[in-house]
Amino acid sequence: MVAKKLRTVAVLTSGGDAPGMNAAIRAVVRTALGNGLNVRGIRRGYEGLLAEDIIDLSARDVSDTIQRGGTILYTARCPEMFQKEGVQEAAAIIKKYEIDGLVVIGGDGSYRGALALSKLGVNVIGIPGTIDLDIPCTEYTIGFDTAVNTAMEAIDKIRDTSTSHERCSIIEVMGRGAGYLALWCGIGNGAEKILMPEEQDFNEAAIIDDIAECRKRGKKNYIIINAESIGDSTNMAKRIEKATGISTRATILGHMQRGGSPTCRDRVYASTMGAFAVKVLLEGRRNRIICYNKGEFMDMDIDEALNATKPFPDFQYKIAQDLAL
Ligand code: ADP
Repeated sequence: MVAKKLRTVAVLTSGGDAPGMNAAIRAVVRTALGNGLNVRGIRRGYEGLLAEDIIDLSARDVSDTIQRGGTILYTARCPEMFQKEGVQEAAAIIKKYEIDGLVVIGGDGSYRGALALSKLGVNVIGIPGTIDLDIPCTEYTIGFDTAVNTAMEAIDKIRDTSTSHERCSIIEVMGRGAGYLALWCGIGNGAEKILMPEEQDFNEAAIIDDIAECRKRGKKNYIIINAESIGDSTNMAKRIEKATGISTRATILGHMQRGGSPTCRDRVYASTMGAFAVKVLLEGRRNRIICYNKGEFMDMDIDEALNATKPFPDFQYKIAQDLAL
């Protein structure tokens, strides 16, 4: 089969937003325009695709966006894509708008939507965008670096006041399904304990004993980083305070972790991935996910990407525990 000539590419962001998505959009737009292609932006992910919320994008439309968090294309979750009819309708709209390549910036869920579209003949390219780092096919995802630095800085501030008042602090970070943010903050902020979904041996009684022990050894504060999946931080703080007699506060960092100006790393990697995605399309490759592994940017078949596994770095969890002496 002779491949159809590439004339028009479209880009959308889907699922949870992540700082650096704008840098990726900008790179897709400008690389495509620089290669003589037309570029369309689909607003609000697959939901906007089904609503035909599709705009032309020029080089100026992405001016002044590289430093902005969030996504200028907005994002959404779209339950219709779980139904065959929804995917068929989406594929028909892509055909109607003569879109030859669809760049999807999002996480694993968004790739599953893209895979479903690819089975109906749409050429899809995925770019990993999530603050959770929980995409198995890649060691890097757009937004994690910014989010983990945002959380780290917030936790440093909490640590200052926690030390002044000789408190115990539970700080809840995002990561319902994956504990990378908790692990990195645990190490980067020198926490005494990290609670996260990958380490289910959580034992509150042992933590209470450890807090009392640490106090005897002269520790002025005690930081617990809690990935949002593990219990209720506010109630845990009340129980710890009651059992130890040590003032304990819970802080839930929440959505602040999603926002903010992307770090340099997120801007550079997102820009590289956006440009790489268009290069893959120009070279005629189909249905690929852009990844970063072992120091290199690469592309991988979407099926292979969705079946990839990424072992959790248990050795780093052990290091965090060892360093909390
Ligand atoms: P993320 O891309 O961040 O993992 P979600 O899991 O919420 O975010 O997925 C984003 C969107 O991708 C969903 O709202 C849905 O429209 C689409 N999607 C997710 N899983 C599937 C699937 N199995 N089949 C088709 N579309 C899917």
